[in-house]
Amino acid sequence: MFRPGRKTTRLPTTPYPEVIEVTASAPLVDAFDLVIFGGTGDLALRKLLPALFHRFLDGQIPAGSRVVGIAREGLDDDGYRANIRKALLEAGGAKDKVDAFLTQVAYRSLDARKDEGWDAFAALIGEQPDHVRVFYLSTSPELFVDICNRLGEYDLNRGKSRVVLEKPIGRDLASANQINDAVGRIFDESQTYRIDHYLGKETVQNLLALRFGNALFEPLWNAGHIDHVQITVAETLGVGTRGAYYDRAGALRDMVQNHILQLLCMVAMEPPSSLSPDAVRDEKLKVLRSLRPIDESNAAQYTVRGQYRAGAAEGQSVPGYLEELGPGSKSHTETFVALKTEIENWRWAGVPFYLRTGKRLPERVSEIVVVFKSVPHSIFDASAGPLTQNRLVLRLQPDEGVKLWLTIKHPGPGGLRLRHVPLDMSFAEAFGVSQPDAYERLLLDVVRGNPTLFMRRDEVEAAWRWAGPILDAWGASGEAPRPYTAGTWGPSAAVALIERDGRTWNEDSE
Ligand code: NAP
Repeated sequence: MFRPGRKTTRLPTTPYPEVIEVTASAPLVDAFDLVIFGGTGDLALRKLLPALFHRFLDGQIPAGSRVVGIAREGLDDDGYRANIRKALLEAGGAKDKVDAFLTQVAYRSLDARKDEGWDAFAALIGEQPDHVRVFYLSTSPELFVDICNRLGEYDLNRGKSRVVLEKPIGRDLASANQINDAVGRIFDESQTYRIDHYLGKETVQNLLALRFGNALFEPLWNAGHIDHVQITVAETLGVGTRGAYYDRAGALRDMVQNHILQLLCMVAMEPPSSLSPDAVRDEKLKVLRSLRPIDESNAAQYTVRGQYRAGAAEGQSVPGYLEELGPGSKSHTETFVALKTEIENWRWAGVPFYLRTGKRLPERVSEIVVVFKSVPHSIFDASAGPLTQNRLVLRLQPDEGVKLWLTIKHPGPGGLRLRHVPLDMSFAEAFGVSQPDAYERLLLDVVRGNPTLFMRRDEVEAAWRWAGPILDAWGASGEAPRPYTAGTWGPSAAVALIERDGRTWNEDSE
């Protein structure tokens, strides 16, 4: 893992003029109306509205564009703006800028399941027939069908309209199909944007640039040179107040089926012929369809699931999962999963992909680690020290960046001693620019009509086809998840999963 304060070797210092030139002026988009169903919710206030505010600050929101929050709560425009104002000021927004942004924000109170209020909402949207219309469904997925049906009934899918679906899209293949069918009756697939905010992260896009913009990596990007790949998404938080939602989901549905598989696809896909949406998504789909199946016959061998017990996080005692659910709770929902899979094609045959995610782990970190094979023969004496495998570490959070671990000679006299050091490129430092939140990029991609970084329906289906049998196998086993103490890296079986192959989970080392 990355440990702040460690000494690393940095690329040349800031600035990189040619890069700054490219990113300095954010391209303008067409005037739009962005409607957030669930506009008073956690996601809207914590992520979507701040993302729009930041784009506003960069001058990327054209005059006349409107952001409309929708929820049942009986607020008027001013009441809604006051809520957002508070959230944006607390996040450090300047008062005059926040107020200027809020002139473009409105609110309509309505219940997605009742007709009342929809006429007035439709009239509001109808005022700007030429605007791009984005309907962002930031509600629980049970409401997606009602909302889409009413958008159809009130004839709101007109002109340049798009719908954005938040995760989770269903809890299995059947329920995902139900949602996709219902949405598909109103919106064409080309208008449907299934968001996975991991794909909007700089590091993930940088993976495309690294792989396909450099001649260095692609010749080595295969089973001949790569030993294995690890993907870790670790959280220090527990479920907190989201226990009711989480207990119906669990780590596999919440993280692996969507985010982690999407990351895996970006690592493993064949070079697409272009960055056009379908060229990229066709290649990702092939990866999903090539994943080695895990089912009742091998789930015990390839998967480990866990559930946290009371322990310590960030120096404080914290309760276990069941205590957080409420007194007397019983649950077999996993808050941790580690698994080993393979991609059954020529490029990747025999290369294990180790995936792990969990709550109440020791560090908040998301990273992809590509571990290269050892050199075939060492020319160095034992006194030079061990030769360590090269690793390319792509960090998605907390600080987005890339490290390439190389072996060099320890500088100075004293004979030839080998050192393993990271060539470290922390994006924010190296480029002297702040990192936009993934939602900033993705929201404007929707307005632009660019679905490259969104999941197509067949991808969601393929991901469920792979994840479903794992969930079935766990259910059939009747076994409880293995307990682990909050603040540790999950059950010891997760360590054994990788160590019995003679490998270890990534730890930063020099
Ligand atoms: P939340 O805080 O519970 O907000 C739900 C929103 O939906 C509220 O604005 C609520 O307002 C509105 N709502 C509920 N019933 C409604 C109805 N019948 N008609 C109209 N509006 C209704 O949920 P959230 O955390 O923002 O999450 C929203 C969605 O995004 C969920 O599917 C979640 O899984 C997903 N998501 C969330 C996060 C996150 O960080 N929060 C991350 C990824 C994905 P009223 O009660 O006033 O109607």
